[in-house]
Amino acid sequence: MKFDSIIIGGGVAGLSCAIRCAEAGMKTAVIAAGQSALHFSSGSVDVLSRLPNGEQVNEPFASFGELKTQCPSHPYSKLGELQCREAINWYQDVMARCGVYLTAQADEKNHYRVTPMGTFRSTWLSQQTVHQFPQDRLAEGFTEIALVTVDGFRDFQPQLAADNLSKLSAFEGVKIKTAAVELPDFDNMQRNPCEFRSIDISRVLRDETKLHAFAKSMIQQVGKADLVVLPAVFGNGDGAATIKLLEGLTGFKICELPTMPPSLLGIRLEEAMKSHYKHLGGLILAGDEVLSGEFDNHRLAKIFTRNHEDIPLVADHFLLASGSFFSKGLSAQRHEVSEPIFGLDMADSTHRDHWYQPQFFTPQSHPFMKMGIDCNNQLNPSINNQVINNLYCAGAILAHYDPVQEGSGSGVAISTGYYVAQQMINVHQHQEQHPTETLPKQERTTA
Ligand SMILES: Cc1cc2nc3c(=O)[nH]c(=O)nc-3n(C[C@H](O)[C@H](O)[C@H](O)COP(=O)(O)OP(=O)(O)OC[C@H]3O[C@@H](n4cnc5c(N)ncnc54)[C@H](O)[C@@H]3O)c2cc1C
Repeated sequence: MKFDSIIIGGGVAGLSCAIRCAEAGMKTAVIAAGQSALHFSSGSVDVLSRLPNGEQVNEPFASFGELKTQCPSHPYSKLGELQCREAINWYQDVMARCGVYLTAQADEKNHYRVTPMGTFRSTWLSQQTVHQFPQDRLAEGFTEIALVTVDGFRDFQPQLAADNLSKLSAFEGVKIKTAAVELPDFDNMQRNPCEFRSIDISRVLRDETKLHAFAKSMIQQVGKADLVVLPAVFGNGDGAATIKLLEGLTGFKICELPTMPPSLLGIRLEEAMKSHYKHLGGLILAGDEVLSGEFDNHRLAKIFTRNHEDIPLVADHFLLASGSFFSKGLSAQRHEVSEPIFGLDMADSTHRDHWYQPQFFTPQSHPFMKMGIDCNNQLNPSINNQVINNLYCAGAILAHYDPVQEGSGSGVAISTGYYVAQQMINVHQHQEQHPTETLPKQERTTA
C-alpha cells in the first residue's frame, strides 16, 4: 500500500499532522496502536505555564525568547514563536469547524481551570464548556458557586474541592456549596455504592427523557448559583451540545471540570479530530502497531505492522508521533532508554541514577521526563548520527522538554505536528510541480 504520508501514532501530534496533510490533498494514513494521552488529559491546550528553571509563565508566547535562552534545544526553540502561533491558531480553526470552540484570554495571558481537588491549573486554550478563571481575577462576578456531582460517581468529591476553594483569599465572600444529583434509574443500575465512571453516566444522560429528569432534580438540589460546576460526564465526543441543552432546561450557567480517566473532554478533542480527518478522506488503521521499517539511502522506505506483516506500507514521508513512555513510544530497560520501532538516536543516555531527582515533588523537572529522540531543526531524527531525511518526529516522543513541569504538552504536540506537515506539504507540492525530478538514489540498507 502506497501513501504520500504515513503517520505513526493517533494522539494530538499525529492527528494534527495528518489533518494538515489531508487538507493539502495528500494521501495520508494514520496507524494508531492504542488510546492516546488525550483520554487522560483535561481537554485544555497547555502552551507554556512554567520555564525550565521553574519560573511561572503568565504570557506563554512572550516567554519564548527566555525559553530559548534557557533551553535552545526545546522544540519551541526550534520552531520559533511565529510557527507555534500559526499552528495553535490553525488548530483552533479546525476544532471550531468541528463544533469544539477552544478560546484563550484576550490579554494573551494563561487562564486557570479548576481541578477536581478545588485547585487551579494554568492553561492557554479551553473548550467552551470550561470556565476560564482569569489569573488575577479568580472569583470575579461570583457570589455563589455550586459544586455538583452525580450520586454514585466515584471520581469527584465536591466537598473536598469546596474546602480547598474556600481557603483561597480570592474566594473570600463567595458562597461555595455542594450538591449531589441523583441519576435517573440510579436504584436499578447501582450494583455497589460507588460504581459509575464518567462514560457510564454519559450513556444514561444521552437519553433526553433522563436528561430532563436530571435537570429537574438539579434545580431542586442546587437552588440558586451564579455558576454550577459539574464533572465532565456528558456525551462521548459531543458533550458540549448536551450541556447547552441542560443549561436551557435549568437556567444555570454550567461549566465542566475534567476528572479521572476516561476524560470526556480529552476524548471530545480526539473524536473531533478523527472525524474531521476522515471527512477529508484520511485513513486510520486503528488497533494496528508498527513493528519495524526498512531504510534505503538514509530514507525510510517502508514499514511493517502487526496486521500487515507481509504487506509493507510505503510512503514518501513518515511521521513518528508514538508518544512517550506512557504510550510506549519510548521504552525503558534497566540501564537504557530506547525508541523501540527503529532504534532512533536518543538525546542523552546518562546512568540511571541520573534519570530522576532525589525529591519526588520538586520545582525542577525529573530528567526522565525530558528524555526522547534527538532531532535536527527540521525534526528529522537520526540513526547512528545519520539523519533520516523523510522521517520526522513530533509530540511527546521529542527530547528536551517536560510537558508536565512546563505545562506545554498539547502545545508542543500540535505545533510540532503542524510544522512537520508543512514540510511534507512543501516537498509534496514541489514534486507535483516537477514530476521528473527524482528523490535521492535509493541504496538499500536495513537499519
Ligand atoms: C495523564 C496525562 C495528562 C495530561 N494532561 C494534559 C492537559 O491537560 N493539557 C495538555 O496540554 N497536555 C496534557 N498532557 C500532555 C499531553 O497530553 C501530551 O503531551 C500529548 O497529548 C502527547 O501527544 P502525542 O500525540 O505526542 O502522544 P500520545 O497522545 O501519547 O499518542 C501516541 C500514540 O501513538 C500510538 N503508538 C505508540 N506506539 C505505536 C506503534 N508502534 N504503532 C502505532 N501506534 C503507536 C499510541 O497508541 C498513541 O495513539 C497530559 C499527559 C498525560 C500523560
